[in-house]
Amino acid sequence: MNTTKSDKLFKEAQKLMPGGVNSPVRAFKSVGRNPLYIKKAKSAKLTDADGNVFIDYIGSWGPMILGHTRKEVINAIKKVATDGTSFGACCEQEIYLAKLIKKFVPSVEIVRMVNSGTEATMSAMRLARGFTSREKIIKFEGCYHGHADSFLIKAGSGVATLGLPDSPGVTKSTAKDTLTAKYNDIESVYQLVKKNKDSIAAVFIEPVAGNMGCVPAEKEFLQKLRELCTAEKIVLIFDEVMSGFRLARGGAQEIYGITPDLTTFGKIIGGGLPVGAYGGREEIMKLIAPAGPVYQAGTLSGNPLAMQAGYETLKIIDNDKNFYKKLGENCQYLYDGLLEVNKKLNKNLTLNSCGSMFTMFFTDQKVTDFDSAKTSDTKAFGRYFNLMLENGIYLPPSQFEAWFVSAAHSHKDLDKTIKAHHSAMKAL
Ligand SMILES: *Cc1c(COP(=O)(O)O)cnc(C)c1O
Repeated sequence: MNTTKSDKLFKEAQKLMPGGVNSPVRAFKSVGRNPLYIKKAKSAKLTDADGNVFIDYIGSWGPMILGHTRKEVINAIKKVATDGTSFGACCEQEIYLAKLIKKFVPSVEIVRMVNSGTEATMSAMRLARGFTSREKIIKFEGCYHGHADSFLIKAGSGVATLGLPDSPGVTKSTAKDTLTAKYNDIESVYQLVKKNKDSIAAVFIEPVAGNMGCVPAEKEFLQKLRELCTAEKIVLIFDEVMSGFRLARGGAQEIYGITPDLTTFGKIIGGGLPVGAYGGREEIMKLIAPAGPVYQAGTLSGNPLAMQAGYETLKIIDNDKNFYKKLGENCQYLYDGLLEVNKKLNKNLTLNSCGSMFTMFFTDQKVTDFDSAKTSDTKAFGRYFNLMLENGIYLPPSQFEAWFVSAAHSHKDLDKTIKAHHSAMKAL
């Protein structure tokens, strides 16, 4: 594979940006090679600066559920852009998107648009604190909720990939208000709540974790978490930045049949443009300024371009009653194919999946939390990643990330992936 142009660009970028990138995982550090510069994308495929073509399982880390450059979305963006990209004022598109979000996710009575998942979670945290007049939060080891200080404690993927336990620059006084529990372990939450009676504002959770690799929560665990939060008047916040609109119309909360108090969104709701949102019970959301005293604002929030891209994406899903069923069937085809290869080659690896999110863990252990995820052989994963790349398959460059299938992945793409997997596993 010729990567001359990408290599040259990366060399230049390293003089200009920290580590040459604008988000750490892109640097490919844990898989021992230079990153590729992507020039363009279409459907399920990416083309890099040197003209190499790959089947993409990153999908911009989740947003591209329809595949890249979907005609309707791009045309809508072009049309709206002609009339102006941002006014810092109200626009009709905000209303369309808010209506669709409410329609998809019934627990969302009121929603506020922001510009990223990070903004959504940090705003939801402030809101929960304002609502409860309490200061501490609970999060789970291996869950990622964006890069706000309070969440950079045992934060999974990006942080885990680089082996940083948390981050310098996060003050002790901030860190002490973040308590961490074990994923899928309700006892660990009971203990924290008992020890910190009446001082926990919120529990944040990825109901299907994607940032330690794909690790679905057990239903009973989430049910007990819901009961506990209700009993203790703790705001239960589902971080569905990744799982929202990905696993089902109503996200993970629909699959599990569990209603959080607040939900955070990002990724898919921007249709590939920078958008985040948080929403939930009106009683809580009405505390947000200017309706209430909890301040939160944004110069570019709700801009027509991003709103239209998100709206167009959700509308396509809305108009296709079998969207998730078809996507799910395609994914099952892929998972079956991958597992069959593993079986044939006597490779005992753990494949976790939920809908169109999955991870092949290089361990024979069951992966139910961050500790079990970390039993994976990351060196073997790194070699596998490179073999797959050479075979035209673009996977997340870290063991601790979810892989995404889009509606644009054809059976031909999936067959090619299974074949590449076979030759990579054989070569390992
Ligand atoms: C991606 C992600 C975030 C952060 O979103 P950004 O848009 O990258 O700030 C937060 N929570 C979860 C669950 C995510 O997957």
